[in-house]
Amino acid sequence: MKPASFRYISATSLEHALSLKAEYGDDAKFLAGGQSLIPTMNFRLARPAILIDLNRIDGLGATRPCDGGGARVGALTRYRTLERDAGFAGMFPLIAEALPHIAHPQIRNRGTIGGNLSHADPASELPAVAVALGARFHVQSTKQQRWCDASNFFVGGLTTDLQSDEMLVEVELPAPKPRTGSCFMEIARRRGDFAIAGVAATMTLGERDECIHVRLVFCGVGETPADASSVAEILRGHAPTEQAIRDVAAAAQAMIDPSGSVHATADYQRHIAGVLTERALQTAYQRARHGH
Ligand SMILES: Cc1cc2nc3c(=O)[nH]c(=O)nc-3n(C[C@H](O)[C@H](O)[C@H](O)COP(=O)(O)OP(=O)(O)OC[C@H]3O[C@@H](n4cnc5c(N)ncnc54)[C@H](O)[C@@H]3O)c2cc1C
Repeated sequence: MKPASFRYISATSLEHALSLKAEYGDDAKFLAGGQSLIPTMNFRLARPAILIDLNRIDGLGATRPCDGGGARVGALTRYRTLERDAGFAGMFPLIAEALPHIAHPQIRNRGTIGGNLSHADPASELPAVAVALGARFHVQSTKQQRWCDASNFFVGGLTTDLQSDEMLVEVELPAPKPRTGSCFMEIARRRGDFAIAGVAATMTLGERDECIHVRLVFCGVGETPADASSVAEILRGHAPTEQAIRDVAAAAQAMIDPSGSVHATADYQRHIAGVLTERALQTAYQRARHGH
């Protein structure tokens, strides 16, 4: 299939891109890695009149440290850049573990963090990871700039809090606290496929190996990342036992509302979510204990 005709404009600066978006609104789309946008245009599921190419904007693909620790990742940062950055992977092992599950190397060479998060595919890994890490998104238009918590950004399937004149410019990732372990796991039909269900878990331990903070967020089992951290709260204050983790998994299964698809029934997705929860929480706990 070929896309419907469109006008292509290569933005020369962030201000240029934002002013074009302010002018054309919903008729225009930003082109980042093109790995979701171009297929949907080829299938004529999207017919933007104008494509605003972000790829020549200086600095939009840069990663830099935050003042209080953590990192700020520019929207145009490619998956591949982060995969190859050992320092970044050491600071955010949850992201490093999730990245290889995204599509295939060719797609990760082009696909960007900002494009992924703005596209907001319900089965996508990074939205769930961003919520689990407590990320914040820097959003800008010609009129204003604002910060949006990842937990408020994803409002529906393929729908975010971004307004028609806004761009996701940067992602702020807080540094994980000491003695934090994390784990990302998913089940897909084939390597590189979108997840049937996936889970991002983080756990922080106190001096006696008791759980003092825990996050549990699913992808693929709802329209948006499914934050089940509240059901994991029963782990707080104790060293997590196998039984306690099993109880969290059962509560998470009851909480989520998967819709099923041609690849898996809702019951199977719920089953997978429970199995992954047990494994991911056990792994996060052991990693927190042993410091990796
Ligand atoms: C075969 C295949 C398998 C895939 N498997 C997976 C998978 O397993 N997991 C997964 O997560 N993804 C998967 N993807 C999607 C891939 O990760 C995309 O690269 C990603 O979702 C979109 O990033 P992009 O940079 O290519 O964005 P684009 O395709 O360029 O843009 C996507 C959307 O976001 C908008 N946009 C882009 N950047 C911004 C910005 N900075 N601010 C506001 N809006 C913006 C665009 O206008 C467009 O609407 C797969 C893709 C393919 C083709």
